[in-house]
Amino acid sequence: MSADGATPTRPRDAARVAGMGETVFATYSALARATNAINLGQGFPDDAPDGAVLEALRAGADGHQQYAPMPGDPNLTGAIARALGGALARDLDPLANVQVTVGATEGLFASVQALVDPGDEVVIVEPWYDAYPEMVRMAGGRVVGVPMRLEGARWRLDRAALTAAVGPRTRLVMVNTPHNPTGAVYDDDDLDAIVAAAARADAVVLSDEVYEHLAFVPFTRLASRPGAWERTLTVSSIGKSFGVTGWKVGWVSGPDDLVGAVRAAHQWIPFAVATPLQRACATLLEGVASDGGASFARLRASLERRRDLLTAVLTDTGFTAHHADGGYFVVADATALGFGDGEALARALPAAAGVVAIPMRAFVSGEHCALVDGMLRFAFCKGDDAIAEAGVRLRAWRDRGFAAA
Ligand code: PMP
Ligand code: GLN
Repeated sequence: MSADGATPTRPRDAARVAGMGETVFATYSALARATNAINLGQGFPDDAPDGAVLEALRAGADGHQQYAPMPGDPNLTGAIARALGGALARDLDPLANVQVTVGATEGLFASVQALVDPGDEVVIVEPWYDAYPEMVRMAGGRVVGVPMRLEGARWRLDRAALTAAVGPRTRLVMVNTPHNPTGAVYDDDDLDAIVAAAARADAVVLSDEVYEHLAFVPFTRLASRPGAWERTLTVSSIGKSFGVTGWKVGWVSGPDDLVGAVRAAHQWIPFAVATPLQRACATLLEGVASDGGASFARLRASLERRRDLLTAVLTDTGFTAHHADGGYFVVADATALGFGDGEALARALPAAAGVVAIPMRAFVSGEHCALVDGMLRFAFCKGDDAIAEAGVRLRAWRDRGFAAA
């Protein structure tokens, strides 16, 4: 009750969530279900994983029903340390250098909780994965956005803008390569510029590499660059590499002092991650370690082919499609079709065309929203049938003169 005893009230929300909106992925996947549209919005594969993945899941469940150790199941931390250590040419200690988390999401959240105090600045490249700025705000940090540049059909890191944005108050620089949503893959000069800027400010780099095995051009891990390891936390997860986004098993790796800080936060968030899933992930990582990279090469080839299919569909519809060098997504500009407001188009598209895409507006700050006016993000990690049917529907919409429903 309010002070006058008449008006019913409810307990107030904490400031960190008061007025917070819903994530765009919840909104647009619900819209896809409600309208029976093809969901090229949220990034998850819609084909069944292969038999070996399901077999690993069944075997992982066998006899492993109790809490895993807080840092992670030793089979999994061992497999991660071997895989990443091999890639970085560095001897990693599974306990000191790896923390298993509930997907990359909890890895990022725990890292921000571990490193950001109220008032600290966190530099984030825009467009960004929508969770990043919210995680920083929930920790009381101040978000400093650095816009990427569109160079021809490719999105590129603006090294000069990033360097200028990192200063004495910067505690963390959050980057993602291969990049969601633009499909950019940072080259070595980009990575060196990030490391140099962070070093000058004595800041930590949080490198989100969940699409590490889905680059269609040469890919370098940020932590492998000179001077990077000591100040870098690398985040990844099982979801994209094996087409199992619902498993939500991830990890954070880096030098022992930084991983120790992440672990201090993690122990009070979930404490431990589902044991059967960790066992299954260990089996999958051990399996690919012994196949000489063949299965990841097949996965990349299959995704690259679907990128080309979807890009052709979008171009044929009249969109200006950008070029994705990695990941799950292609960005397309509808300005030439007469849609300057990508958010309005994304809301209308399910009813008008029977297809869901995500407005790029969801991935930028208000300050930099002009960068993505008229743009949508489409996922190509879907089956051939879904992409072909989306093509049929989008062309029919084009032939109706891009009419609303
Ligand atoms: N980072 C990026 C860039 C992503 O695209 C995603 C989406 N899956 C995540 C983090 C979250 O990964 P996870 O599902 O493993 O929590
Ligand atoms: N990473 C996925 C995407 O970008 C979504 C993950 C989520 O729904 N939180 O579409």
